This record gives sequence, structure tokens and C-alpha cells, in this order.
Amino acid sequence: MDKIKKLILIAVPMSICNFRCQYCYLTHRSEYYQNKQPNYQYSPEHVAKALSKERLGGVAYVNLCADGETLLAKDITKYTHELLKEGHYIEFVTNLSVTKILDEILSWDTELLNRLEFKCSFHYLQLKEKNLLDTFSNNVKKIWAAGASANIETTPHDELIPYIDELKKFALKNFGALPHLTIARNDDTDNIEYLTNLPMAEYDEIWSTFGSTFWEFKKTFFTKKQEQFCYAGEWSLYVNLATGNANQCYVSRITQNIFEDLSKPINFKPIGRCLLPHCYNGHSLLSLGCIPQFDQARYGDIRNRIKLDESQWLQPKLKNFFNTRLEESNTRLDPKTENDIIRKFKRQEQLAALNPVNLAKRIVGKKGVDCIKKIIRHKNA
Ligand code: SF4
Repeated sequence: MDKIKKLILIAVPMSICNFRCQYCYLTHRSEYYQNKQPNYQYSPEHVAKALSKERLGGVAYVNLCADGETLLAKDITKYTHELLKEGHYIEFVTNLSVTKILDEILSWDTELLNRLEFKCSFHYLQLKEKNLLDTFSNNVKKIWAAGASANIETTPHDELIPYIDELKKFALKNFGALPHLTIARNDDTDNIEYLTNLPMAEYDEIWSTFGSTFWEFKKTFFTKKQEQFCYAGEWSLYVNLATGNANQCYVSRITQNIFEDLSKPINFKPIGRCLLPHCYNGHSLLSLGCIPQFDQARYGDIRNRIKLDESQWLQPKLKNFFNTRLEESNTRLDPKTENDIIRKFKRQEQLAALNPVNLAKRIVGKKGVDCIKKIIRHKNA
């Protein structure tokens, strides 16, 4: 049975989307929806060599996600195909509305498709408005019929509440189960808060009716700073598909290019102490084991659902792989070394917090600092 050796998050730098969801975290960035295709500097074959099993030390879970609709990214099928041929397991994030490209993928060999899972973002209101609900559900069924895996995930947002009953009815009829729920986040806030106007008790009462173990797991760490030793950077990487620039996680202590020189080994170094307010995508990062002590859930289990006819959303081979953990194929440092590294980084962060710009950030927030910088630039111009 394959076991996960590395967790590779691949960012596809492309900003084209055919949907406009009001809760989309991309709208919190200045460069969103710019209609730009990636400027790939390396061929699909080269990227597969850069991320070969030999170079990574084993089989990887690879997540492919664009800053828009991933199926609309130029040549994305070629990169996906090469990475599957390399033996990795792929999670492909999509709104599942681009049938032509999906059909091309689903024509591949079943052995490859068994290792491919589509994270189908079920944007109910956009699908309804664009008359694409049937397209979405037919595409989900085609994925299962072709031997790949599909899991359906809805973003709980306040505007969706009046439609919950009809959404549930549609999901039970077409997916044999209710969708899982993620958490809508507000990237515009310093601490990346929940995106809702509801008091938390009401929010929980409404969305807990979906019985989503994925959402329940996510709620256990969302908005909580991770203080334990994290192996992101050693066991996982965040890689730009166009350039090969790789970070340890969404933020990083070191950056390297892993596509440039294939004869050079990748510098796998643990981040140690998380640099983010919280691990907002810990549903995969934590359940797959970036922090070994964080062992409350297995990724395959929380992505899966059992349908009314007893069949499952995830193929057994893929689910078993998703249920393995990084510490099974990687070696941990001894606890004393882990603690020493955490203490060292904590001290560095305390010193950095005394830097005047960082002090200002704490007083007026990131937006305030950006505003002050703009005023200074304007005055000096
Ligand atoms: S705790 Fe999560 S977000 Fe933070 S570095 Fe580790 S994996 Fe990344």
C-alpha cells in the first residue's frame, strides 16, 4: 500500500474565474480576477522530474489549486497527467463547471484516475444563478463512473442560509449524501477570522445540521495559533507551478527554487514554529501530519462520505493513501531538539515584534501600515 512521503501544495498562478462568489477569499487580495494565465517557465515533463518520487523520497499527496478556476488554467491537464504518471496522488480543486477539460481528464487510464480526487467546490448560489446545477451534478457522477474520486464541499455563508433545505435535497438526490462544509474565512482581517455576521452559537447551530466531520475537525483549530513543532518545509512544500519557487508553507523562513537545477537536492527544512495566526488549511496539513501530535482525524475519512446506496465518494485506494500520515514515512527530531528550535524562533519573533514597522502594525493593523506607507510614498513623490 502507498504511504504519503511528502505533501506538496501547488499554486497555479492564474487569476481567471467564471464564477463570482461573494465569500471568495481571492477578493481580499489586490491582484484578484486579473484574467491572467500562468507564464510557465518549465515544461510538464520537467516539473514531473523536479517532483519525481526519487527526488521527493517517495509518493506525494499533491494539491493543485489556482487563484481562479483550476480547470481554466492553460495546460493544466498536461501537468496533472505528468504528475499522475510519476505515481503521485492528486487532489484537484475545481468548481466543476468546465466540462470539456474535465472530459479530457476522465478519458485517461483508470490506473491514473484511481489516484485522482476532485475537490468539487459546490458554489450552490452561483450554480443556480448560472443554471449549472445539472452540469455540476452530472460531472460529479462522471468522475465516479470513470474511477476517480469526487468529494463535494460547500462554503457555509450567511447568504446561503435561506437555501439550505433545497441545497440538501439536491445533494441527497445527486450525491447520495450532504456536502461537507469548509469554513469561509476573512483574509482581510489580521487574524484571518470567520467570515460571518452571525454570533458563533447561531452559526454552529445552523451549519452543524450538515453532520460534516470535515467542518467539525476544521473548527477544532480554526483561529487557534499552533504552538507545537511543525514539520512543514521538511515534510511538505508550497510550490509555484510556473516558476518553481518553493516555500515551507504559505509563509516561510526560507525560499528556494526547486525546478531550476534538477541535479541539486531539495533543501527540506522544517519551519518549526508556525508563522501564521492559525493553520486555516489544517484540514489537510494537520490531518496528514505536519504536526505529528495533531492526530484527531485522518484526511481520507474526513473527505469521504458514504452514499445512501452504501458506495463511497472516495475510491478505496485513494482513501487508504489519504489516511496515511507523514510521520509513518519520515523521521522526527527528538523532543528536546524540537523544543530548542521552537524557543529559538519564538525569541527571534519577539525581537522582530520590537521593530518599528511591526510595532505600528500591532497598533494600527496591516491596513493602517499600508495606508501610512502610501501617504509617505505620495509625499516623497
Ligand atoms: S501549522 Fe499549518 S499553516 Fe502553520 S506552518 Fe504548519 S502546516 Fe503551515
